Amino acid sequence: MAKLYFHYATMNAGKTTMLLQASYNYRERGMTTMLFVAGHYRKGDTGLISSRIGLETEAEMFRDGDDLFARVAEHHDHTTVHCVFVDEAQFLEEEQAWQLARIADRLDIPVMCYGLRTDFQGKLFSGSRALLAISDELREVRTICRCGRKATMVVRLGADGKVARQGEQVAIGKDVYVSLCRRHWEEEMGRASPDDFIGFT
Ligand SMILES: [Zn+2]
Repeated sequence: MAKLYFHYATMNAGKTTMLLQASYNYRERGMTTMLFVAGHYRKGDTGLISSRIGLETEAEMFRDGDDLFARVAEHHDHTTVHCVFVDEAQFLEEEQAWQLARIADRLDIPVMCYGLRTDFQGKLFSGSRALLAISDELREVRTICRCGRKATMVVRLGADGKVARQGEQVAIGKDVYVSLCRRHWEEEMGRASPDDFIGFT
């Protein structure tokens, strides 16, 4: 049986590069993949999945209320789909995570989701919560903090270069995200005293 996978990490861990490479591997063998990316902060109908190292490919967009099972089933009806990929999966609704599970269970198509586990305040995203709950396989994509420990958290730097401690879950604009270990995240967020503060400079 096909499985539902969730590859999760902090920012800048290379999730999108992994997604594009995996999709390429299918297509190189003459197989068909369907790619989705969150359309919440994009205009138009065609999305683009871009990785930091310069790879990019077109993708369909998903927004709140979209039925992903119906969209994949319709496509699968005329062209066999071998794998479904979802980037920015943290933005899925809970119901959409279940639709992806049904794609695996009822259409027998593997579904590979890639996304953030938590936001800059250390809270689960809706899509991540659902995927952590129901995925068949959870895979952590690793990256490291400035101290060398595994980074599991992310802070958001505003235009002033300072760490944001409050605000919307997602900021649109020129904010920069930095991945940190939990210890340094708590220090940057002002929740623990910075015994070994390193800073961002
Ligand atoms: Zn650290």
